[in-house]
Amino acid sequence: MALFEKMDLGASDENKNTASEVEKTKVLIIGSGPAGYTAAIYAARANLSPVLYEGMQPGGQLTTTTEVENFPGYPEGITGPAMMEDLKNQASRFGTDIRFGYATATDLSQRPFKVTVDGNKVIETEALIIATGATAKYLGLEDEQKYAGGGVSACATCDGFFYRGKDVAVVGGGDTACEEAMYLAGLAKKVYLIVRRDVLRASKVMQDRLLATENIEVLWKHQTKGLTGDGVVEGAVLVKNKGEENEEEVKIAIDGFFLAIGHSPNSEIFKDYLDTDEVGYIKTINGTSKTNVPGVFACGDVMDNQYRQAVTAAGSGCKAAIDAERFLSEN
Ligand code: NAP
Repeated sequence: MALFEKMDLGASDENKNTASEVEKTKVLIIGSGPAGYTAAIYAARANLSPVLYEGMQPGGQLTTTTEVENFPGYPEGITGPAMMEDLKNQASRFGTDIRFGYATATDLSQRPFKVTVDGNKVIETEALIIATGATAKYLGLEDEQKYAGGGVSACATCDGFFYRGKDVAVVGGGDTACEEAMYLAGLAKKVYLIVRRDVLRASKVMQDRLLATENIEVLWKHQTKGLTGDGVVEGAVLVKNKGEENEEEVKIAIDGFFLAIGHSPNSEIFKDYLDTDEVGYIKTINGTSKTNVPGVFACGDVMDNQYRQAVTAAGSGCKAAIDAERFLSEN
């Protein structure tokens, strides 16, 4: 789940082999969320001496959440940053070489694979584990930054529990927004679904369920202008029928503001070599972490548009390390 900067340094010729230093490794892991660190723990314990680059946001998306209460093994819950520190220490304990830096270009056309880090260092690796995560999309409002950790969230499953009995809003009209709104409806007193058009993009069955949920109110043709509140979110200012004659400003009182307008997988620098779906999620083969390039494995949110949980990411990181170990022993 590690965040990597949206890199326009694709694997085009101008980005290849421009680095001055070259280093060789058996297993290179890029990404430092639960998937990357779990892959590192397994790879290190298998004596593969993995090197892990943390990316732009060491610890990944979990470092932006507060309390994590659904990761098995923490009965009292734990903060996202503390959990990622634990995972990092565990990976380090078994000998993972953890480094700050982010991958800016790749050449996966042949083994050893070449990964350029920070634009100036090339790592040649026999096996590559991609754990670069996905980035939740935000509206781009200044208030989203202002209230980060104070009522703005892009993950209802992670943070919904803190809004029991309160009023919240979800932005979006796709399957994720509907799912998140229904999840929140089971906890919150009232859920507003802020939809920019007069239709939902979500599947019919999801729409039917959503519209039948009593404490969800859909605000059709509404867009968010800003958030209000003293330190934490207390309300949202919306625009209804934007650009039309009957445009009007609408204010709602809410304690939580959830974004569900999609995620972007951080797969840009691999796209020239790896099969992805239309959104950019890396395709893996038959429930494994194997990509279409033998020796390149993907785990965590960069290949998972369905579950996107810390525990599923960790599980897929484990698979990637085992797949890499088997690949190396067979090749
Ligand atoms: P999505 O299908 O791309 O929907 C994004 C939604 O956000 C759309 O309603 C879109 O509005 C809205 N949106 C985008 N930018 C916006 C903006 N700036 N302001 C306001 N609204 C904005 O994304 P998703 O819901 O995350 O789903 C991604 C994929 O995963 C889909 O293929 C989905 O079917 C799948 N999925 C499946 C399940 C399931 O089957 N259980 C659950 C979750 C996701 P417009 O409609 O106006 O463009």
